[in-house]
Amino acid sequence: GTLTVDELAGKLNKDASELIKKLMFLGVMATKNQDLDDDAVELICSEYDVEVEKEIVFEDTDFDKYLEESKQENLVERPAVVTIMGHVDHGKTTLLDAIRHTKVTEGEAGGITQHIGAYQVENEGKKVTFLDTPGHAAFTSMRSRGAQVTDIAILVVAADDGVMPQTVEAINHAKAAEVPIIIAVNKMDKEGANPDRVMQELTEYELVPEDWGGDTIFVNLSAIKQEGINDLLEMILLVSEVEELKADQTQNAFGTVIEAQLDKGRGSVATLLVQNGTLRVGDSIVVGNTFGRVRAMVNDLGKRVQEAGPSTPVEITGLNDVPQAGDQFLVFSDEKKARQIGEARQQKHIQESRTGQSKVSLDDLFEQIKQGEMKDINIIIKADVQGSAEALASSLRKIEVEGVQIKIIHTGVGAITESDIILAAASNAIVIGFNVRPDANAKKTAETEEVDVRLHRVIYKVIEEIESAMKGMLDPEF
Ligand code: GDP
Repeated sequence: GTLTVDELAGKLNKDASELIKKLMFLGVMATKNQDLDDDAVELICSEYDVEVEKEIVFEDTDFDKYLEESKQENLVERPAVVTIMGHVDHGKTTLLDAIRHTKVTEGEAGGITQHIGAYQVENEGKKVTFLDTPGHAAFTSMRSRGAQVTDIAILVVAADDGVMPQTVEAINHAKAAEVPIIIAVNKMDKEGANPDRVMQELTEYELVPEDWGGDTIFVNLSAIKQEGINDLLEMILLVSEVEELKADQTQNAFGTVIEAQLDKGRGSVATLLVQNGTLRVGDSIVVGNTFGRVRAMVNDLGKRVQEAGPSTPVEITGLNDVPQAGDQFLVFSDEKKARQIGEARQQKHIQESRTGQSKVSLDDLFEQIKQGEMKDINIIIKADVQGSAEALASSLRKIEVEGVQIKIIHTGVGAITESDIILAAASNAIVIGFNVRPDANAKKTAETEEVDVRLHRVIYKVIEEIESAMKGMLDPEF
């Protein structure tokens, strides 16, 4: 933080005028209320033989810095992390169970799996990690917290039902996250199964099978009969290879919280997905706004383990509080540092929840464009009928303001739902409701996530509003 001359004088128990003189002598012209940079503060303090205690702040961007430190020569292949998405009842849960049962039990005496929020299976000597919470809501809500854990999305489409509204949502969520999609055409055992129709319908969303000149992988399967599971795993491994998923095992562990809760006996229990480095029992760790030392680790088979490498999910105990799903974690070699950073983050978190941090809103759009912070303006459109949604989308795309581009990341018919809001929060998007309103959950989430939701009944009003915002002419009292 910065200090004014006056504040520093107070801390040093000196007169501000004396400090101003000293500063002048050091070549810094300052007034009483002027903010001093760290160097100036240090200079003055050294004049008085006072040692400056640097405030330790740990920003989320430090995680990126850490990742950059991963040495190229240390990078090794890591398992893919996969999320299963799709319309309700198309068989996501059944597929997750089928994969677990066909694979995990092999070679595992008893084969009792523990539900810790994610699990790993092995196919031809290679591992794949599956997140146990199917659906795009969980996926995107993590992303809205800054964590991108999914490498590959499996889109389950029931062969007897075809593409449904949540199928489209899932596609848009995966695309917004730039995650490759593999199509699992499920329920092939059913009488009315029509995989060609599924392929046909998906071409509309630029998911075109290889046979038809595209590059999307389709796998036909029956989750309930456990048929086609191996094919699916093979395709996942194929995509993993193309994606060249790598990590540095030698580093301190870094990753994301998959789920966490308070356990009566064990205290805070969190499932962590290691994304880089190796996590070990005894490590000093900062997890979101919590911290501690890893007391014990249990893997997805319920076995105690001493360490966990990249893409491995483990349940840990030893944190001072319960973190949230989507929080990131980092291990520190120095226990004291972990503690200081953990405490600082906890403080900062408390402050932030008081002041609130804002996402994109139309009102500050122009400011952000001016500052060069925004090149794409992400928009989600919900309308009462498909025709209006499309008309609105195409009109919005036509708006031309130099240096910025409108990107419609999702359109849909019906009320604005929580999933729309979560996608908006994760993608920094504005939600436009055309002749529709947010439902109760969406309203609540929009408030907490500070997502800008605009409701309209006339197309040209929407265009006018967005255009004005882009040009910085938005009427503030709107
Ligand atoms: P989710 O909502 O996508 O998680 O769907 P579920 O996994 O709960 O499955 C919905 C229903 O479809 C359940 O009754 C399943 O038994 C059934 N189901 C799932 N996969 C198949 C399949 O491959 N074939 C058939 N016939 N039914 C299936």
